Parts: sequence; structure tokens; C-alpha cells
Amino acid sequence: MHFDTLALRATHQPDPATGAVVAPLHLSTTFARDTANELPGPYIYSRANNPTREALETALAQLEGGRVAMAFSSGQAAAMTIFQALRPGDHVLIGTDAYYGTPALLEEVFHPWGLTYTRVDMRDLNAVQSSLHENTRVVWCETPSNPLLHITDLLTVSRLAHEAGAIVVADNTWASPALQRPLDLNCDVVMHSTTKYLSGHSDVLGGALIFGKDDAFAQRVRQLQTLSGAVPSPFDCWLVSRGIKTLGVRMRAQMATAQAVAEFLDGHPAVEAVHFPGLSSHPDRALIQQQMNGPGAMLSVQIRDTDGGNGATEALRFIGKLNLITRATSLGGVESLIEHRASVEGPNSKTPKNLLRMSVGLEHPDDLIADLAQGLS
Ligand SMILES: *Cc1c(COP(=O)(O)O)cnc(C)c1O
Repeated sequence: MHFDTLALRATHQPDPATGAVVAPLHLSTTFARDTANELPGPYIYSRANNPTREALETALAQLEGGRVAMAFSSGQAAAMTIFQALRPGDHVLIGTDAYYGTPALLEEVFHPWGLTYTRVDMRDLNAVQSSLHENTRVVWCETPSNPLLHITDLLTVSRLAHEAGAIVVADNTWASPALQRPLDLNCDVVMHSTTKYLSGHSDVLGGALIFGKDDAFAQRVRQLQTLSGAVPSPFDCWLVSRGIKTLGVRMRAQMATAQAVAEFLDGHPAVEAVHFPGLSSHPDRALIQQQMNGPGAMLSVQIRDTDGGNGATEALRFIGKLNLITRATSLGGVESLIEHRASVEGPNSKTPKNLLRMSVGLEHPDDLIADLAQGLS
């Protein structure tokens, strides 16, 4: 089945009780027992499970080709629960280019708690292999990476990790299951910030984990979630399910526009570099064609410095002139956003100071390019 059809099928659940074509929203926190004290279904209390959340989880498992899925209150809550399922003394391997919040969780929360971690360039397979230790439990991959759009060879990293007795968690937020299915590439767990492409309208905060196997690790993660309560509201789950219905068509349109925007920026004299998996100059082209169905709609651009500084002034002046593209963090919505990553990431940021990250939305490409052109002029 094609992805578009699968996304519709997975989220389209007419209500047998009423015939409602759109699945109802179950806000109830608790579920009634009959005179014999029996529950009519599997639901007891919504921290443990809820019909609207379960509908989203079933859909997510189908989209990623997994056995079991869990919806969380944010992407960070999902990542946090993976690390909570490890033990003091365990080791995590994570890329040098990654969403800054993930290594920040490891440094600020889990390092004091006894986890160790190593940051490695995930494109350097020899470095990955030599950084895998006896106590390495998780290899955390993010591809394309944030914000430099590096590509990780998921099949090979999974083989190396499994040989060393570790599991691979793939943050699939940027590609989304419309373009990449890490479980098919032998990864063990897929993580999402559903805040981004899956919901798609910048109006829900959510996260998800999808497991290839319903094994002891998956059950431990579920237990931690149920006990600690990092769960999304039913309304947020309902909104993510609604977003998924249009994911395929949104991604196709946004991707085509991102290609046009990247090609425009790539040739511009005020631009030093463009990072976008759809450019023929991207160093990982072969891998992109092998493991992705398209380049996605995220790109980063480095602005040329003109006064012997680090280019931050030129980058900030450029985005200050934009009229159509909104200056804001986050990504994956229908509106185009641009941001100076180093400003958001703070003093420990490793991101080049002249780098701007753009999430390309559903505006017409000509209008976006016109706005960028006047900003760069
Ligand atoms: C946004 C994002 C996260 C964090 O998700 P939240 O929903 O903001 O908690 C993690 N990974 C990537 C790649 C992201 O873009």
C-alpha cells in the first residue's frame, strides 16, 4: 500500500457506536465498571491508556512498520523515557550533529544520574565502531541531522550496534515516515517529535516511540510512562491523528518548494553554503537515494561574512528584512519558519554563527524566493 493510503487508513476509524465518520475524542480520564465490577474494555484510567491515544499509537505503529507505539507529551518526554529505561553505568552513543535538546538531556539530567555518553560523527563508521563499548546500550541516530543535514547510514550503524550488543534509536522527526522508515533499516526504536511534521500545523506538542519488537525494553518504557505520566492529552492525540491524514501530500508539496528554495540560495552571491539533501552537491547523495524517498523540506543556509566577523551580523540582518517567512523556532508546519540556531541553542552551541535553519512550508515557491531575494539584497 502507498504511504498516502496507509496514512489515511491508519487514522480513519469510523465510530461503530454512532457511525461518526471521524473518530470521536474521548476526554474521559476514567472508565466505569459494571455491577460485577468488570470493565467493558481495556481502559481503566487515562494515564495508563485512553481510546483516543490508543488510536494514535496504533496508527503510528502502522506508519513506521512497528509492533507497538507509545505517544508522549513531547519529543523530549519520549527521549527522556528511553534514557530512564537504562541503568546507571550504561553508555549512550550520540551524533555530534543532533537536536541540541537530546545531548542536553544526557548532560544535564542523566550524566549526574550515572549514564555516560560519547558524541561521535555518525558518518564516520570507523569512529562509530571504536566508540562502542561493552556497556553501550543505545546508539542514538538522527538523520537528516539538525542543523547540518548530515545523513547517517542506518543499515550499517544498526549492524555495528547489534554486533556490540546495543540497540539503535532513530530520531525520525525530520524525514517523517513518509520519507524514511528506520525499522525497515534494522533500527530498533523510532522516536518522533510529533510536534513537527506528523501534526504539521504548529499547534500540538507531542512525541512518540515506535518499537520493532514488543520486548522487555519496550514494556519497561511503557511501564515508566504509565508510572511517571509523560502522556499527551486526548485532544493533542486527536490533532496528531488528523495531521497524519495529510502528511504525504504536505511533505510532497513542501519538499518540492524546499528544492526550489535550496537551488535559489545555492547560487546566490551572499550565501556561503546551503545544506539540503536534494542538492546534487550534498556529500551523502548515494545514501539519501538508498534510504530516503525524498530530501525532506528542511534546509540550512550559511550567510557570507562581509566584515571579518563570524557572519552572525549578516545572517541576523537578512532575517530581519523578511516579510513573509516567520522568524521562529520549530519546524514541520504549513507555514515557513526561519531561525538563527546559535541564538536559540545558547552558549554551548556548536552551530556555525552564520547558519540559519529554514522549515519550508506550503506557501508558493515564487513568493518565498521573492522574500528571500529581497532579504539578501
Ligand atoms: C523538536 C525536536 C525534538 C524535541 O521535540 P519536542 O516535541 O520539542 O520535545 C527532538 N528531535 C528533533 C529532531 C526535533 O526537531
